[in-house]
Amino acid sequence: PSGSEPATKIVINLERLQQLPADKVGPLARYAAAIQSQRGDYNGKVLSIRAEDLRSLAIIYDMSPGELTEQLIDWGVLPQDARPANRVD
Ligand code: C2E
Ligand code: C2E
Ligand code: C2E
Repeated sequence: PSGSEPATKIVINLERLQQLPADKVGPLARYAAAIQSQRGDYNGKVLSIRAEDLRSLAIIYDMSPGELTEQLIDWGVLPQDARPANRVD
């Protein structure tokens, strides 16, 4: 496969998320906060979310899931190794 591919394991860095401007990460930050609330999971430094949630977020950001994965890595919200190893630039 070529091009950007979606992350398979999505572990959001919540501390990094809080450092970024709301005009960029607002929708993602609200989504993550909603999941934390539904789980009652408030104390983590990271939050594991569903692959399905990445697809929903990609629609919100008007990107493909692969493009959003790249964006989240660029922001430092996902680790470098969230990028699938076989992707081609
Ligand atoms: P892991 O998936 O590599 O997660 C490592 C650590 O990251 C977790 O240590 C936890 O401190 C943090 N973490 C990851 N995702 C979340 C999250 O959504 N919320 C919060 N609050 N913290 C998160 P922990 O809890 O000691 O778990 C150690 C390992 O135990 C995990 O490694 C995983 O392999 C397993 N584990 C824990 N909970 C689950 C789970 O709900 N499902 C599965 N399949 N494995 C789990
Ligand atoms: P639900 O989807 O009916 O899931 C009920 C419970 O099943 C969850 O309770 C959790 O204990 C377990 N569960 C479901 N799917 C998974 C999974 O992929 N991995 C793990 N480790 N457990 C799973 P919990 O965590 O208290 O969540 C309560 C409700 O909050 C969920 O009900 C769901 O409606 C919502 N929720 C929580 N986390 C997420 C998320 O990451 N994404 C979405 N879309 N909804 C979530
Ligand atoms: P995980 O707990 O290691 O689960 C890995 C994958 O196993 C999930 O990927 C999902 O495909 C499947 N799975 C696990 N538990 C359930 C379940 O109760 N019902 C169903 N239908 N499938 C299940 P997925 O969905 O991409 O989730 C990735 C990670 O996000 C999970 O890793 C877990 O750490 C977290 N997560 C997702 N949903 C919930 C949730 O409702 N509550 C909690 N506490 N964590 C969740």
